[in-house]
Amino acid sequence: MAPAGFVTRFAPSPTGLLHLGHAYSALTAWDAARDAGGVCLLRIEDTDTARVRPDHEAAIYEDLAWLGLRWPEPVMRQSDRRVAYAEALAHLAGLGVTYPCRCSRADIRAALAAPQEGAGASGAASGLYPGTCRGRAMSEAGPSDAIRLDLEKALALTKNQTLHWTETGPSHAGRHTLDPDAMRAHIGDVVLARKDIGTAAYHLAVVVDDAAQNVTHIVRGEDLLEATPIHRLLQALLELPEPVWHHHALVRDEDGKRLAKRNDARAIRTYREAGLTPADVRRLCDESAR
Ligand code: GLU
Repeated sequence: MAPAGFVTRFAPSPTGLLHLGHAYSALTAWDAARDAGGVCLLRIEDTDTARVRPDHEAAIYEDLAWLGLRWPEPVMRQSDRRVAYAEALAHLAGLGVTYPCRCSRADIRAALAAPQEGAGASGAASGLYPGTCRGRAMSEAGPSDAIRLDLEKALALTKNQTLHWTETGPSHAGRHTLDPDAMRAHIGDVVLARKDIGTAAYHLAVVVDDAAQNVTHIVRGEDLLEATPIHRLLQALLELPEPVWHHHALVRDEDGKRLAKRNDARAIRTYREAGLTPADVRRLCDESAR
């Protein structure tokens, strides 16, 4: 079968029941695929082993099917992708843009609270990783270390390429250019892998998987807008193709807050059990997305 010209995906984490916000995201992605004559894939983002539950994964399949959505099988699950993540990490390590980090959350908080030497005041103000372990060699990586991207080295390595991306979502549509200063101020040295080297963190897993699934259009919520530059940078370092992004509006509660996973009152299955139809849920999504 020839690859579809438009491939998007819905990539939930099975750490709770899908709520109205997920329904809106899924419907937006599937509608976009239908309108473009393309395909929408389902991917299970189950790297957070402490919070992932098999019953939540089963509920994802059930709730999406109830909404009338269909997806190609087999479904990609991130827990099956350790080898691909380890290869990507080895590639980045080979470029010299990674380092092992042994800081706990408490260490990072303490370092940020202390007067900053060299890390820069902007890091302290924004809560970015202060760089305590930066410069440690990958050969020193212990089994409980995280692996971080050395942003400065990554930017230096890509400085002869101007990195662009296209956004088609409602609030930031246009062609964007990677802004190194904004990345220094807002992103910093992100975690790429946790604990042992095969367990990818979100940024690395999503970039590797979108490329492996030939995703051409990434449809997701505006809460992930800020992750786009780091994903674009990782794509360049890993020599992966550039997709188009579409960050959609978010379903919000009466106070304007984004729905949280534990908001079971807004769970798709709560509406279903109350006798609402998939069309009712679609209408509720459209009414509360802003
Ligand atoms: N797994 C992420 C979430 O549930 C979505 C990742 C993405 O769409 O890039 O929020």
